[in-house]
Amino acid sequence: MSKQSNIEAATAAILRAARANPAITAVGLADELERGAIEELGVDPDERIAELRAAFPSRWHICDECGGEGRSSAHLGAFSMAELGDDPEFAEAYFAGAYDRACPCCKGSGKVKAIDEEAFFESLPADLREHIEIEHKIAEYRATESAMRAAGIQF
Ligand SMILES: [Zn+2]
Repeated sequence: MSKQSNIEAATAAILRAARANPAITAVGLADELERGAIEELGVDPDERIAELRAAFPSRWHICDECGGEGRSSAHLGAFSMAELGDDPEFAEAYFAGAYDRACPCCKGSGKVKAIDEEAFFESLPADLREHIEIEHKIAEYRATESAMRAAGIQF
């Protein structure tokens, strides 16, 4: 299967998933890409995720793990101020970043690429977008309704 037909098949599988579950969010749709949609293609998911993801609009985000620093001492666990106070030499080196390692999440770059949910949603066919929006409004209304009921509000 060529790269282009892989992407087309993944897109088709995602659109099928969206039609089967109209309440699914754009993120949910993106998740489908990593699960069923990829399995459906009969390709090795790990091998193809990056390639298939690249077919969708994406944007860079600051890495949550290291706050964009690219390096962290998270592998050491957390220390209390009291613990650090007991060993001033260690504390100084610790704060100076002597124990930092490249962040495993962003591999030291400080940023991660994720699917741009808004752009992804905008890229869906108009009828499907409309359908998803209506289903979301209904779901929101139902959630409000049950919250009011739980709070004992009569309506
Ligand atoms: Zn990071």
